[in-house]
Amino acid sequence: MTYTGITLALSKGRIFEETLPLLAAAGITPSESPESSRKLIIGTNRDDVRLIIVRASDVPTYVQYGAADLGIAGKDVLNEHGGNGLYQPLDLQIAKCRMMVAVREGYDYAGMVKQGARIRVATKYVNAARDHFASKGVHIDLIKLYGSMELAPLVGLSDVIVDLVSSGGTLKANGLVAVEHIGDISSRLVVNQAALKLKRNLIQPVIDAFASAVAGDVPA
Ligand code: ATP
Ligand code: MG
Repeated sequence: MTYTGITLALSKGRIFEETLPLLAAAGITPSESPESSRKLIIGTNRDDVRLIIVRASDVPTYVQYGAADLGIAGKDVLNEHGGNGLYQPLDLQIAKCRMMVAVREGYDYAGMVKQGARIRVATKYVNAARDHFASKGVHIDLIKLYGSMELAPLVGLSDVIVDLVSSGGTLKANGLVAVEHIGDISSRLVVNQAALKLKRNLIQPVIDAFASAVAGDVPA
């Protein structure tokens, strides 16, 4: 608890991988990979910067409470969290995908919507789903899931799912089709507001380096 440097919260997998070039632009190199190491606190080449590895959906929580000074989280995750207490200075343009409504092949989604039928929606993204269908004036029953949403329409748990899609390969492999685009998703830098005030000398240069890397500036 006496760490005086800055702590950046990341999730394993695509966020960690796609953040490496941004870290490099800020002069930060992790000392090990979270994929091979089981450590949850990872040092870097700088003794004033460390990384913590948390579940993607937990990143905003660590930053909100100041357990991490900064973090990187998808817009999907931030939307579900609500963003309370988080400063979001940058869209990092990484981990890009689309939030979509998908159904089983052959399901007449447009027809059901037109009829004003009540639709069963299974998703991990309950806020996004609620907002989307409310804005269309469609009545839904929401079923909260934590993963593998593609299964739900196949076994009759739901009529539709709201899920993230990149190539569409997983939908296709399960006989599903995307029928509606809810929004584009990418990951954002999130910063604890109090930490920014107290440790601006350490945090601001990281924000600036990330910003120039995203803008495609050649590092000096
Ligand atoms: P967990 O696996 O811990 O349940 P998760 O599936 O949300 O959480 P990841 O798969 O690592 O975690 O996804 C992290 C972030 O990457 C998501 O919050 C989202 O913003 C983005 N993402 C999710 N799926 C894709 C995809 N297929 N392509 C690109 N980016 C994606
Ligand atoms: Mg995942």
